[in-house]
Amino acid sequence: MQAGAAVIAVGLAVVVWRALGGAETRGRVFTRPGRTGVGVLLLAVVWGGASRLVPVAQYPPPPARPAAPAGAPNVVLIVVDTLRADHLSCYGYTGIRTPHIDRLAGDGLRYANTFSQASWTRPSIATILSGLYPSSHGAIHKADILPDRVDTLAENLQRFGYRTVGFADNANISQAFNFQQGFDEYRYLAPTFFFLANEPAAQLALYSGLRLIRERFLSHRVDVHHYYQPAEVVTAEVTAWLAHGAERQPFFLFIHYMDAHDPYMVHPFNGEGYARVANPNPPPAVAERYRQLYDGGIAYLDEHVGALFDTLRARNLYDRSLVVLTADHGEEFQEHGGWWHGTTLYDEQIHVPLLVKPPGNSVAGRVIEELATSLDIAPTIVAAAGAPVPGTFQGHVLPLDDGRPSARQSVFSEEDFEGNVLQAVRTKEWKLITANSDNPRGLPPEALFDVVTDPRESSNVRAAQPAAAEILRAELGRSAIEARAHGGASQQGGSDAATQERLRALGYVN
Ligand SMILES: [Zn+2]
Repeated sequence: MQAGAAVIAVGLAVVVWRALGGAETRGRVFTRPGRTGVGVLLLAVVWGGASRLVPVAQYPPPPARPAAPAGAPNVVLIVVDTLRADHLSCYGYTGIRTPHIDRLAGDGLRYANTFSQASWTRPSIATILSGLYPSSHGAIHKADILPDRVDTLAENLQRFGYRTVGFADNANISQAFNFQQGFDEYRYLAPTFFFLANEPAAQLALYSGLRLIRERFLSHRVDVHHYYQPAEVVTAEVTAWLAHGAERQPFFLFIHYMDAHDPYMVHPFNGEGYARVANPNPPPAVAERYRQLYDGGIAYLDEHVGALFDTLRARNLYDRSLVVLTADHGEEFQEHGGWWHGTTLYDEQIHVPLLVKPPGNSVAGRVIEELATSLDIAPTIVAAAGAPVPGTFQGHVLPLDDGRPSARQSVFSEEDFEGNVLQAVRTKEWKLITANSDNPRGLPPEALFDVVTDPRESSNVRAAQPAAAEILRAELGRSAIEARAHGGASQQGGSDAATQERLRALGYVN
């Protein structure tokens, strides 16, 4: 529809252009510079005007399904991209306050030691939405999509009678990568392109050229909408959906926010911001400044997540819903001499928040110190819904009532991104990280950390602690085999120009 509108607009421009040419030959109404100016104006109208013709999302009626049993709770799953656990005040942070997220923690369970299965968006959120390790779901490399063969959390809930809806704010988890599986409605809140370009225009080589020039000369002048839709927009979209979507319950509502992701921007937005794509390797001296801007993004996010919770309360949905808030990975600010995420498996990149508020307030404010992982989210939600937990799910059902300790003794993470092939296993006492030789990040082949006495993972004690290294090595080997137990064929996609441009804006450069 949008492409059709652009074709019509181009056609109109050609007609008017020719009409102007006729006028010139007949009566010289327009001088040549004047004609050129009008032409440029027309092209601008074509380029920008069509971009305003936002296609209206059309969804088929949800498939017929059995009604979920009476009393099945609504489920609200919030994933905040790039949100470190240790930058929330409910996790002890003092740099900012996050009162709305803290209140959710106070109403439910806070899992203090939760780790993601990967440190970049696509494999990690695929794990959250599938209950499978990256080696099993297969969305690992830049061209991989979430394969059709994966039986997702949404598909399980849909079959059980839930209405399922998702709001995705990052191209990595858009329809281009097949993340809509099992959702009755799945809305990718696409960023706007530079120069008001529309999607067909963005496929022009001219667009890429102009963008490069812009990044070269205006690298610190950013508009958040060129990278992702800010929390205010995401919350408004979800609020609008709730106005009609909440009529049919139970529902599963997946919401993804992006405000902790780079560019690190001044809040309230004033146009100043620092993007990975514009400067992939900033000097270490700016780490504190970037960290403060990152915190500002979290505080802004907290405010708008709070507005969403207010809406849920006003609609009498909050108490009756299972509300889960987590992140796909963390972010590095020079803790190990680097930046961003997707590059290591140190805790700053994989220690994520996990807050779980069951319906009602029976467990209000409890803190669980046992290990948990992103993998546990899908089985925990399916069990809370009262649906059968598929045998293929690789995580544990987290106890939501009596705080029984989890049987989990270790967590496993894995990564194959931009030449860094990494694995990590972590207990509450030790962490072992392995890396491929000649990895571009420069990590040692094997590093062991005593995370009790050295939580910053600054001292590799592999040589001094051979017995611990041997035990962790065995655990890592066992975990790696378990991780690929449900592996299968991978699928590729997401190579269209618009998706590639959107990924590039977020620093995923091929
Ligand atoms: Zn992410």
